[in-house]
Formats: sequence, structure tokens, C-alpha cells
Amino acid sequence: MTTKFVYLFRDVEYAESYVGGDWDKVRSLLGGKGANLAEMTRIGAPVPPGFTVTTEACNAYLAAGMQFPEGMWEQELEAMRATEAETGKSFGDPSNPLLVSCRSGAKFSMPGMMDTVLNIGLNDETAAGMAELTGDERFVYDSYRRLVQMFGSVVLEIDDGAFEQPLEEHKREKGYKNDTEMTAEDWKIMTEKFKATIRAEMGRDFPQDPYEQLRLATEAVFKSWNGKRAIDYRNAAGIKHDLGTGVNIQTMVFGNMGWDSGTGVAFTRDPATGEKIMYGDYLLNAQGEDVVAGIRNTEPIEKMKDTLPQAYADFIEVTERLENHYREMQDVEFTVENKKLWMLQTRDGKRTAMATVKIAVDMAEEGLITKTDAVRKVKPVDVDTLLHPQFIFESKREAEESGKMIARGVNASPGAAVGRVYFDADTAEEKAKEDGRAVIMVRPFTKPDDVHGMLASKGILTSEGGATSHAAVVARQFGIPCVVGASTIRIDQVNRRLTAGEITVEEGDWISVDGTTGEVFVGEIDTVAPTLEEQTDLLRLLDWADEITATPGIRQAPEGWPDKGLQVWANADYPDDARRARSYGAKGIGLCRTEHMFFETERLPIVQDMILSDSVQGRQAALDKLLPFQRSDFDGLFEAMTGLPVIIRLIDPPLHEFMPDEHVLLEEVIEARLKGESIPEKEKLLGSIQALHESNPMMGLRGVRLSVMMPEIVSMQVRAIFEAAADVKLRGFEPHPEVMIPLTGHVNELHFIQPKLEEIAKAVMEEKGVSFSYKFGTMIEIPRAAITADEIAGAASFFSFGTNDLTQFVFGYSRDDAERNFLVKYVEDGILLQNPFQTIDENGVGEVMDIAVKKGRAARLDLEVGVCGEHGGDPESIHLCHRLGLNYVSCSPFRVPIARLAAAQAALEFAT
Ligand code: PEP
Ligand code: MG
Repeated sequence: MTTKFVYLFRDVEYAESYVGGDWDKVRSLLGGKGANLAEMTRIGAPVPPGFTVTTEACNAYLAAGMQFPEGMWEQELEAMRATEAETGKSFGDPSNPLLVSCRSGAKFSMPGMMDTVLNIGLNDETAAGMAELTGDERFVYDSYRRLVQMFGSVVLEIDDGAFEQPLEEHKREKGYKNDTEMTAEDWKIMTEKFKATIRAEMGRDFPQDPYEQLRLATEAVFKSWNGKRAIDYRNAAGIKHDLGTGVNIQTMVFGNMGWDSGTGVAFTRDPATGEKIMYGDYLLNAQGEDVVAGIRNTEPIEKMKDTLPQAYADFIEVTERLENHYREMQDVEFTVENKKLWMLQTRDGKRTAMATVKIAVDMAEEGLITKTDAVRKVKPVDVDTLLHPQFIFESKREAEESGKMIARGVNASPGAAVGRVYFDADTAEEKAKEDGRAVIMVRPFTKPDDVHGMLASKGILTSEGGATSHAAVVARQFGIPCVVGASTIRIDQVNRRLTAGEITVEEGDWISVDGTTGEVFVGEIDTVAPTLEEQTDLLRLLDWADEITATPGIRQAPEGWPDKGLQVWANADYPDDARRARSYGAKGIGLCRTEHMFFETERLPIVQDMILSDSVQGRQAALDKLLPFQRSDFDGLFEAMTGLPVIIRLIDPPLHEFMPDEHVLLEEVIEARLKGESIPEKEKLLGSIQALHESNPMMGLRGVRLSVMMPEIVSMQVRAIFEAAADVKLRGFEPHPEVMIPLTGHVNELHFIQPKLEEIAKAVMEEKGVSFSYKFGTMIEIPRAAITADEIAGAASFFSFGTNDLTQFVFGYSRDDAERNFLVKYVEDGILLQNPFQTIDENGVGEVMDIAVKKGRAARLDLEVGVCGEHGGDPESIHLCHRLGLNYVSCSPFRVPIARLAAAQAALEFAT
């Protein structure tokens, strides 16, 4: 039996049974467009009859060196006969001609990348017949010349210019500005001219036989799968090259048959806001491309109620049915031909992040989908977008429509930025800092010595580079909206301007950069920056996400391990951060980096005195001065987080970080020496700083090693933590301090320092006459700690993976230098699939974590395990942490909502 290569739209059941019932496979076989046309037909939507030639036929054709597979053409002819019967029209019959379109349709949408031919079936005879039938010669000859033109350029691959030029010439001669001024006679002339063009270019006539037109158009669509545009698009969009395209042959319907006809496009909900209203435009007496091209002004869809009432009522009924069927907002195209509605396309509508959230929440509340479906539908990146400034939809559309979009690049870091263009980092910084200007720094690409300019800018634009280029990585790190690789702009550094097509932007001119979509506009577009509190739909969705994560048993886990999903905690150093984190839904503080407090102006000199002092007494005196500062910091933190755990990390960085820069000081000293001046204090300071110098400070005297060498510092910190907790408790709050010792590599480090600190904790509680629960634990940042986690868990009652340091030490990559020196190339060249400082490296770092969790819990079943490195806010890493059995992830307060959604999605993905 020959394979079935052609399916009528009304025969979708056959396609389903051929692939075994799986709808995804139907889409693979028929392409997305064909599958949807068939599905619409099945649910009773009025779809112009037609059929799909399968992707398998396309693949067979290409594999056989451009030969239709056996039986395919005969099946296509048979399907044409069925279509004729269904429409009551005849292909090639001048008295009642059937015209069809021939369109590509791959499994995944590849807009405009492949070929389309319309009005197949027109020839000299059928055109004359149709003109008589419709009484509208102009319409018929406009359609005919379109067929000849499309056939010439698409099927015969004649350059478009060969058709456009004679048309332009004709219009010039006649003094016309627009195509709308062309008469029936003009289009007749153009049809003949286009036919002559084909003859001249190809040495053959435009085929008059409709079946030959159909055969050649089918072949052209097959071939266009391997056209350069299509291949480039698939490479960029990550679509596989062996899928092939379907070919959809469909009865033509005409919206330009008079004032009882029309055409339009609509979304079943507002794609900007998500509001449940029909959103779209239509045009009476027009064809599809007239709506899109904006030649005539369209009317809002609800006006159709008055002009075409029956078609409008049908349209509302059909679109509701489609939405209920697909349980998704639909983007539809329709035509009304002589008052009769025809649906030409439906697909899930593209929408803004705001609309994504609102539609998901509304549909769950309407009972169309479940809350779980709603949580699944929203992507973490949508939440990210909602938390950054965005362009006001209308203003952006206005900018688009008035031709202000000048480039599109890679959307490297989300958010909208508006500012004046400056072409180098120094000027960008100067204009931002000294003149207080909003600056967009524009460079071909950025380098580490541009960072000061980037930090001073509201947004960044580069003409080169990809998603992991230096500009992209730095911008994301600092939350600066950024578009990279906008290759159509030309930067003229000498004349200080950029050009994009016809548009020139001088230094100091305004542009608007959309880091969420990659678009760049000339001029200023208004922005909004809604707060989380204002986003009630998002808050509701996140509550549902939390309900999912908090479901006991949602995670399959060994006995005694967490069986709910991951909690989301936040990294916060100050009470304000903690309050924000809590309002964003954090269930604890996973990391308070205490040393940040040492850098404050008042405190730094005391810290420096402490470091420089030669005696224990001197050091203690400085620490006594620091204690009240630290106590008050912690006090605010515990109060803000009452009832929730707060992990405070003891001092971690190498001490030189608190001292003045050695090189700057050395310069001053040398200068003074040359002048013969005496500056003994500076000389002494320089000596001390030089004494602190280490060749590899990241692997030197830091973390717990510092506590072993100078226990007075951490003793002061623990006293401050417990005094603050006691005070807060006495004021009626509920503190839960957890003291975290960083950078442990050997359990004996904990044995050395932890008992001393626990003594202090007990002593303070006794002095203050209060008690509260507390924990002592450690960070797992050194591979040895992970591997000996059973020993470490003997002393530590919680682990927090410092995945920044852990990645550094597992890879042996310096976290300070790797990205700038080689990591970007590693990712661009595919040596590494991802930047391991952004997404946890599953096979290496993830394995090390797995060992640590298993060994740690084997020694202490109720061990609390979390992550507090940058990865805590990265959705992919969150999925891994869920699988590894962690209790929580901790990330920056701004990422808490993203992490809450990602945690719920991880729980759903791996739910039992
Ligand atoms: C880490 O190493 O992941 C961590 C959180 O600590 P820091 O970044 O402060 O070294
Ligand atoms: Mg660390």
C-alpha cells in the first residue's frame, strides 16, 4: 500500500490514527498550520475546504533529489476533486472557477521564512470567466497579476525587482502614488507585462494549466524548506533541520468582493494587558495584506457588529469555541466573503508578560484551566520582565508604527531604558554623573575597562556580540537593560554618530532600548515600573505557586528528607533588604554577608584599626567599638524577619579588602619620598598592607581560616548576633538566628572554633535571661567539605552551598577573572554549554552537591540544606536543587518572585 501523503482538512482522524493518536505527532506530520486548520474544521469552525501535503512527503521529495514520492501527486489530484465537490466549484473551469492558495507550514512557526502562492487556478480563461461572474474586472486582474508575480518570484525564483520596476514605471507614467489608483485596465496591462517578464527571464511562458501551477507551487514550497532564509532562521531558533514542511492547499476566499466582504485579524484577549476583550482590526472590501500593510486605516473589530452583524455574531461564537477548545488566547485571521465568515488561521497568541500572567490567572478563575495549569503557563522570564521597568505598550506601538524602530538585536538583559547616546565609557560616566543625564552607552562591544561607563548607564547597546558577550553578562549581573549584536546599526566613532538605514543618531540624542525584546528605537518611549504590590494577578499566581510547593508529598524523597518543594529565602544584608525580601515572599534570610557592614564610612576606619593593631588588646578595643554597630544591624534584621530563620555569615573576605589600595598608597609614598617629605604613618600603613599581601587571596586567609587565626572578630560578631536576638525577643518578636561559618574545608576547623562561639551564645542568653532556638552551621564551598560532608554534619546542623566559590574551586576557575578572560569564548564556542557561574554545572558541581547532601543527611537526617550563591535565583539551577533534595534556595530579594515560580514548576515537573 502506498503511504498516505495527503490529508483533507476534514480527515484529521486519519492523520491521528497514522501517528498513533499523539497530537504533537500530528503537528509533526501536518505542520502546525495544517494541524490547526484540520482541528478547526473538526470542531466545526468555518474553514475554507482544502488539504495538507505532509512533511513526510516534503522530506521524501528532498531526499529523492527533487522527486515527488510515489503516489503523492495522484493523492493531491484526488484531494483537489474532493475540494471541488465540497465547494461546488471547478479547478480551471471558467464558468465557476475554484482558486486555491498554496502555503508552507512547518511544525514550528517560521514566519515569512518559506513560500506562499495565492490565487492558483487563474489563467486567461478563468480570469475572463471570473470577471464576468463577479462583475469586478479590477479585482480579478489584480488577483491574476498577483498570481503571475508570486509565481515568477517564488516558483521561478525571478528577482522581485523584475516585477516591481515595471509596476513603478507604469504608476509613474500614469501619475499614480498608490496601487489603489490602478484601474482594471492598468492591472490587465500589468498582468501582460509580468507574463512577458517571465518569458524574458525564463524563456518559458507562465503556465496556463492550473494543475501545472499547482504542481510547481507545491514543489516550490518543498524546496523553500532548504532556502537560505529558512536554514538561517532554524539555526537561530534552534529548530531541527529534518522536520520538513507541510504544504497547505486551501480554497481561496476573498474579502475584497465588495462591501459585504472584509478581512481582519484578532486576538481573543488583549495581548498587551490580557483583558478579556476581543482585540483586533478589520477592513471592509479588502484582502489580508491590506490590514497588515496599513495602506488603509482599519476599523476596530467591534464595529463589525454594525457593518456585518451576522458574520460578527458567528465570529464571536467561533472564537469562543476556539478559546475553550485550545484553553489558550487565540490569534485568528478571518475573511468575510459576501457576508459569510471564513476562519483562515488560529494559533496561540503572542502577548506581553503582563498579559501572560493575567490570562493565566483569569482562565484559572473562569474554570477554563486549573491553578496548576496557570502556574505552568507563565515562564520565570515573564516574572523577571514584570519586575523591571517596561515600555508603555501604546507608546511603544506608536513608536513602531511611526517607523522609529531602528534595530533589533539580542535581548541580553531585560527591562526598558531611555537615555541619550554616548559612544565611550568615560563620556557615558561623565554625562551621567556630572550632568545627571540618562545615558545609553553604545559600543561595538564592551571590555572590562568599559564597566564604569556601563554602570553609570541606564541601558547598553552593542552592535556586535551575543547573549554571553561581556556586555550581556555584565548588564545582567547589574540589572541594566541591554541589547547586544544589533548588527544593522553602524557606529561612526570619529563623527560620534550611529546610523541605522536612513536614520542618523548623533551623540547626545535620545534612544529607547528594550532589553526584554531586543528592540531599539530612536527617541523617547514612556516607561512604567510597577511595584510587585500593584501586580495583583502576579501575586495571586505566586500564591498558587507557593501552595503547590508547600504540598506534602509533592517531592518524592528518601524517608526524613523534605517531601515538599523548595522554599525560597533571600540574601539580604540590611533591614530594608529583608523587609523587601519578606514582602516579595521570602521565607527566610539565607545569607547576610556581615562584612558589607564593615565597609560603611563610619566603620571602615575602626575595622582598619582592628586589622592594623599589633596586640590582642588593641584589636579588642576596636572590636568593642564595632560591636554596637553590628548589634543594631542584626536587631533590625531579626525584627523584620520575626518568626523566620535568619542566617548570618561570619566574616569571610581576606582582610586586605578592607584596606586602602596598595598601589595607590605606594604611589603616594614614592612621591613623598622623592620630594623628601616624611609621612611615617603612610609608610607604616603601606608596610602593614604589604604584609597582608597574598598571591592567591581567594585561596588564602579568608573564611573560617580567618576565624581560627583571629577568633576575636567572630567572637564579637556572635556576641552581637545573640545580644540583638535577645533584645528583639525581649521586645516581643521571634528571632531565629542561624550562625554560618564560611569556607570550611575540614571538620577540625569547626571543632576548633564552633564550641567557643556556642559558649558565647549561651553566655549572652544567660546574661539577658532569654532563650530562643538557634543553629550553628557551615557553608559548603570547598570540594573537600562536600566530600567529607558526613564528618562536617557531625558539627554543623545546616549546610548552605556557596555555589559561587564551589564553582570556582570545582572548576579551578577564578570567579573574578574567568568571565573576562576566557569564559565568554568557552560558551560562545560551545566548550561549555552554559556559564557555570550563572547556571549550576550539573555534571560537576551538581555531583559534588549530591554527594554532600547524601553524606550530610546520612550523618544528620534533619540537616537543613540550602544554596545561597548567585545560582539560587536561576530557574534551571532551582530545578536541579529540587532534584538534589535541598530545603530552600536563597537569592537576591528582586529574584524571589521568579524563584517562587521556578520552585513550583520544578515541583510539578518532578511530581510523583
Ligand atoms: C558563594 O561563594 O557562593 C557565596 C554565597 O559567598 P560569596 O559570594 O560571598 O563568596
Ligand atoms: Mg563564598
